Amino acid sequence: MTELSFVVTPELACPYCGVRVCSDTDWVVSARRRWGWCGVQAVENGEIVGALLLTPSESGGEKNALLRSLWVADPRLGLGRRLVQSACAGLVCRKVSAIVSPGSSSHFSCQVPPRAFLRHVGFGWTGGHYRLDLGATALEKGAAAQVVGRLLRSLNPINPEPATRNPDC
Ligand SMILES: [Zn+2]
Repeated sequence: MTELSFVVTPELACPYCGVRVCSDTDWVVSARRRWGWCGVQAVENGEIVGALLLTPSESGGEKNALLRSLWVADPRLGLGRRLVQSACAGLVCRKVSAIVSPGSSSHFSCQVPPRAFLRHVGFGWTGGHYRLDLGATALEKGAAAQVVGRLLRSLNPINPEPATRNPDC
């Protein structure tokens, strides 16, 4: 069974390109400061099988989340979509408007996801990047709260603070 949890400190290098995100990287620190976490990961039998990392980004007075890294061990299992949906649920509660991401049809990497994947999970192309409007995602408020509840419980062993400092939903 695959369990999804918030990422507080990125632990694993991307298995494809080897890029390792350090826990004191500026954008990781600002994500943690703003949200209490910097992404969502999928764990299967104690092994990380996918991760989506994000950082706060503001443009035109709008609070967004910028996708910094996304990889899954097996792209066929729909894990990427689940990671995106869980991140959406967590961000809706943080009053974030949209997830924005670079994307490419030919030169993709963990930092630049395939365009086809982004479109498949609901991103649209606007003003130089791909954008997933959180107001328009299929996540109902109740469903989002449930997902977030599960994700927050996953944080408890590491850092109980965000669970007691209950988010807005
Ligand atoms: Zn990579």
